[in-house]
Amino acid sequence: MRRVHEPSRDVDVVHDTDVLVVGSGPGGLAAALAAARSGVEVTLVERFGCFGGNITTVGVEGFAWYRHERTVEAGGIGWEFEERAKAMGAAVPESQSLSYELDSEGFKVVADRLVEEAGIRPMLHRLFVAPILDGDAVTGIITESKAGREAILARRIIDATGDADVAHRAGAATHTTLVEKMQAASVMFHLAGVDKTAFMAAVRVNPQTYRDWSSGEWTVETSGKEDDMFSPFLKKPFQKAIEAGVLPANLSTISGTWGAMHDTGELTYMNLIHLAGCDGLDPDSLTRFEIEGRRQVMLAIEAMRRFAPGCASARLRNFGMTIGIRDTRKIDAVYNMTEIDVRNQARFDDTIGIYPEFIDGYGVLILPTTGRYMQIPYRAMLPKKVKNLLVAGRAIGGDRIAHAATRNMACCAVAGQGAGVAAAISVKSGRPLDSIDMAAAQAELRRQGVRVI
Ligand SMILES: Cc1cc2nc3c(=O)[nH]c(=O)nc-3n(C[C@H](O)[C@H](O)[C@H](O)COP(=O)(O)OP(=O)(O)OC[C@H]3O[C@@H](n4cnc5c(N)ncnc54)[C@H](O)[C@@H]3O)c2cc1C
Repeated sequence: MRRVHEPSRDVDVVHDTDVLVVGSGPGGLAAALAAARSGVEVTLVERFGCFGGNITTVGVEGFAWYRHERTVEAGGIGWEFEERAKAMGAAVPESQSLSYELDSEGFKVVADRLVEEAGIRPMLHRLFVAPILDGDAVTGIITESKAGREAILARRIIDATGDADVAHRAGAATHTTLVEKMQAASVMFHLAGVDKTAFMAAVRVNPQTYRDWSSGEWTVETSGKEDDMFSPFLKKPFQKAIEAGVLPANLSTISGTWGAMHDTGELTYMNLIHLAGCDGLDPDSLTRFEIEGRRQVMLAIEAMRRFAPGCASARLRNFGMTIGIRDTRKIDAVYNMTEIDVRNQARFDDTIGIYPEFIDGYGVLILPTTGRYMQIPYRAMLPKKVKNLLVAGRAIGGDRIAHAATRNMACCAVAGQGAGVAAAISVKSGRPLDSIDMAAAQAELRRQGVRVI
């Protein structure tokens, strides 16, 4: 490969803070709020123009679609996301659960309010590009933006980029699943112009279940109790479209779930396009699959117009702002969670919150209908070797099936809140992140409304 030499340069320090959170998805937003509410100065850096991560930029609206009568949860900031969204008219009842679907547009404003109220310094439109290192300690970051390169210094940093960008560039060990075995990427979309009465009548006449997820392209392992439960699953219109020659036969992967059918004729959170082989860390791959995903969405909408009841006049309301990536780097943490942990109600002395027995990914679906739950250990967010750094959200340490649980947004919020409180306690006590007073962190989390054990 041809190379150019990039000369070194001095960079302006534009800001200095106690806790710096990079990335504002469910993990980063919760981390920033928790740290600020613990009484330290907090800055939230985000590459896009809104907070919320996959919720707002991809359109992943099903925040707690796992929730049933007996589900036991942590509460805390994840719960607050839903409650605040409901209060601000940015949530509607979700179709398969006792939860609310967040409105991906409305949640941008919910997140703005939460950030403002907590006194967090917002720094949007800045892409993290490099860590500032003092030996093996991260002491700040370099961002790129329309203003060029800028430096931000911090006492503690929380990497909530989803991709462990900060940890990776700071030299922490990370791993990825082979691209061909990664969870597929998706281009998400929302429809307008659907006849709710006709659509819902067809759902009632022909209800789908989680067993239907295993019809055709995929086999999904359940615990058995999920099989006959209702799922807002859509496949038949696309099968008919293939038979009629409206969809090419090689697009038999188009199928999946819808989230909510609104009175206004919007059918939202359309999770139908599965793009296997997309590498979320390779911009060429991302470019190809953004374009391919949009092509498949338009074909899916045409199939729905012809073969899904109530959808004859349906039209594209919007795509997510960006392709949805499920699976990239995970850190090698001081403790890496395991399949055994998430399947067997793991308990840890350094728990920072609980998460119900909800596993969704890599061909496994288990819903928390029994009251079983696990604890999330603080050490899963502590990267080995690199100091002053925590990783929250979907990049925490764990194996594949552990991630099928911890990648879920409400679990990212639990981890994020734990990371935020831990970082604040570390700043206030002057103790390093790997030797904070866990009892004090757990007490502060309880004060913030988190169920810790
Ligand atoms: C299509 C799809 C459907 C899904 N469905 C569900 C579902 O129904 N329920 C569920 O619970 N989960 C679902 N998930 C998983 C869930 O959305 C993610 O695992 C979760 O959002 C991860 O949260 P996070 O905070 O770690 O990262 P993200 O939500 O990805 O947020 C990361 C943030 O960091 C920012 N960022 C990244 N890199 C940089 C950088 N270098 N500099 C500055 N900012 C940066 C991003 O812009 C983003 O705002 C789905 C995921 C996808 C893609």
